[in-house]
Amino acid sequence: MSASEGAREVLAVKFGHRVTTRAQTYHNFHFYGEPDAEMDIDYYFWVVRDARGVYLVDTGFSPAVGARRRRACHATPAELLPVLGIAPDDVTAVVVSHGHWDHTGNLGQFPRAQLVMAEAEYAFWTSPLAARTQFAEHREAQEIEALRRARAQDRLTLFSGQYTLAPGFELTEVGGHTPGELIALVAAGGGTTVLASDALHFYEEVERDRPFAILADLPGMYRAYDTLAQLAAQPGTHLVAGHDPAVRARFARYAAAPAAGTAAPAGTEVTDLTAPRP
Ligand SMILES: [Zn+2]
Repeated sequence: MSASEGAREVLAVKFGHRVTTRAQTYHNFHFYGEPDAEMDIDYYFWVVRDARGVYLVDTGFSPAVGARRRRACHATPAELLPVLGIAPDDVTAVVVSHGHWDHTGNLGQFPRAQLVMAEAEYAFWTSPLAARTQFAEHREAQEIEALRRARAQDRLTLFSGQYTLAPGFELTEVGGHTPGELIALVAAGGGTTVLASDALHFYEEVERDRPFAILADLPGMYRAYDTLAQLAAQPGTHLVAGHDPAVRARFARYAAAPAAGTAAPAGTEVTDLTAPRP
């Protein structure tokens, strides 16, 4: 069913990849007494499309920043959205799940979209603390500047707790990974898709209770896992991890053909988050 028929689509777009290690991925990995091993990390942004419009959750990272940080960037949103039949100007709102560099790149591709993020997240990344090395490593100053500019232009919506972006499209602040990390609950396909972004990088964090290596607040991160586990236990609720290649195994590949005259950039993959595989 296409968006024009009234269905809401929720898509994960894999646009980047890197090989990392388990020791770099999990907080105090040595506590678990297991040998280290390589693991793949995917980079995604997410698209929600319905009769009202097109929404993005995060905007990936820019090719230049990816090159400097040695992450392969296969496409930016402006390169990939046309494959889905979406022009960047069709995007009405961009949800910023948190202020890390791999989620806040390419904001300049959406100069007219309304940006939405948690007030605590914005306050943190525009505060002096964000310049301290352990935090500054994860942000790009010019991208935080882009958020400041959006605020000056009255294009930035800040919220605390919960925010309804559209009917059946709720944002919930959970913190933990960053001071105002949010998750998105999207009603679609008769169920609810939970876009956890970096409240859950890998399913193993919730399924084996293993905090991710980068965090602002460890108790908050455990509480966010509890929130996600409770959501996932509800019938028809699909949990979507923010960096896990398993997302592409747990959900079906998006079936629609590329828009006329377009082709998906090599290395990208679009997954239908309303279609869990049996
Ligand atoms: Zn991330």
